[in-house]
Amino acid sequence: MRTVVSIAAMQRLARDLRRRGTRIGFVPTMGYLHAGHLSLVRRARQLVGRRGKVVVSIYVNPTQFGPKEDLSRYPRDLKRDLKLCRGEGADVVFTPNDREMYPGKAGGDYSTYVVEEKLSPGMEGASRPGHFRGVTTVVAKLFNIVQPDVAVFGAKDFQQAAVIRRMVRDLNFPLRIVVAPTLREADGLAMSSRNKYLQGQLRTQGIVLWRSIQKARTAVRGSSKAISAARLKADLKKFIQSEPAARLDYVEFFDPETLAPVSEVVRGTQMALAVFIGKTRLIDNAKL
Ligand code: AMP
Repeated sequence: MRTVVSIAAMQRLARDLRRRGTRIGFVPTMGYLHAGHLSLVRRARQLVGRRGKVVVSIYVNPTQFGPKEDLSRYPRDLKRDLKLCRGEGADVVFTPNDREMYPGKAGGDYSTYVVEEKLSPGMEGASRPGHFRGVTTVVAKLFNIVQPDVAVFGAKDFQQAAVIRRMVRDLNFPLRIVVAPTLREADGLAMSSRNKYLQGQLRTQGIVLWRSIQKARTAVRGSSKAISAARLKADLKKFIQSEPAARLDYVEFFDPETLAPVSEVVRGTQMALAVFIGKTRLIDNAKL
């Protein structure tokens, strides 16, 4: 496994691979890897085959964090991440730095961003202004650097995957986007690097997101008619706030393709929610 830090070296490597007809599968991450990330690495390997190359990027992208968010305390452990990538059979780990990714930014001299305007404003975009601008910008940059044939994203970040698919379509990036299922802990908590912040009671209360999804699913599947989204939201809010450390940020019911909110919830409606457990903000989603 190779570790590449410089952008020029990664672009050179990508160009050489492509020239030889080697397929590149790409998994962008912010590191502090868990089994969910590793499932994406395995998926990338399946997609490019044994003769293809799997590239994992590890980069905590500052432009997708708001000023009051957890950028500086975002968990990092590169040594462990490299070991996990090696164990999973990744070929290249790309770990760029801020200086190269955002040249001139400290002096206010970085000025090009990618903005998706239709799918970004709701949900995560409403709660985290500027978040998706940071995501689309960094992912566009990473695609230009790694030049993948296929990139794998997790369904855990459902809206993010939709925004990236749209960006790829609208800006003609010559690659395929694959979305892989959410990996969960045994009790249903979606795996996340931020779960590290959840200790003791907070960890137990973190299950409330998955429980909310199950509650909504049970309601929808047990009903012969559509259920009012407003009613379901109110019920779930009450359910979530009954956990002492939990505070609902949003819960939304929407069309999985257009992300347009629906007022009537039926089987197949997508649900997403964000909940603060203490200071840690968790997200989850599922098809009902
Ligand atoms: P992150 O490091 O949080 O930016 O995530 C990197 C990629 O891993 C994104 O495509 C996420 O959607 C995906 N991912 C994160 N958590 C999970 C999970 N529990 N299961 C599957 N994919 C995940």
